Amino acid sequence: MPRKHSIMDGKQLVFIDMDGVLVNFYGGVKKYYPCFDTYAEEKQREITAELSARSGFFTALEPMPDAVEAFQQLARKYEAYILSTPDWNGVNSWTEKRIWVEQHLRDPAYKRLILSHNKGLFSGRALIDDRLRNGADNFKGEHIHFGTEKFPDWKAVLKYLL
Ligand SMILES: [Mg+2]
Repeated sequence: MPRKHSIMDGKQLVFIDMDGVLVNFYGGVKKYYPCFDTYAEEKQREITAELSARSGFFTALEPMPDAVEAFQQLARKYEAYILSTPDWNGVNSWTEKRIWVEQHLRDPAYKRLILSHNKGLFSGRALIDDRLRNGADNFKGEHIHFGTEKFPDWKAVLKYLL
């Protein structure tokens, strides 16, 4: 029986972060904490951990603008995987990330979700990530720093990678 998805067809690997890249995580956070950006980093971590642990928080999050179409386009040219770091203590986030992928990205993302606390273990053409944490700075390939001046949004990323 043929495999539904093969990684043997010569396409390059591209890894895509969830929070702040595919998923409008901070938009969801600001619904509960409108002044989130003004808090100290430790307080921000406490808030995101608390919300991530809350049942239904993650699955209610909206995609980032153009993210769904961008994933589909990237998945046609590349072996596109989602590489996301869930909250270790908030086990809901592990399940809800998987549900979110099915709800929003559907077929092109089938069995393409990788949850890891060390993105430095992976190598490929590119990692599209809005942060340097969780090993993103050690990724073996190009780090496309989403949300920066060079790559402010999905339009800029697609122009670069397609
Ligand atoms: Mg992120």
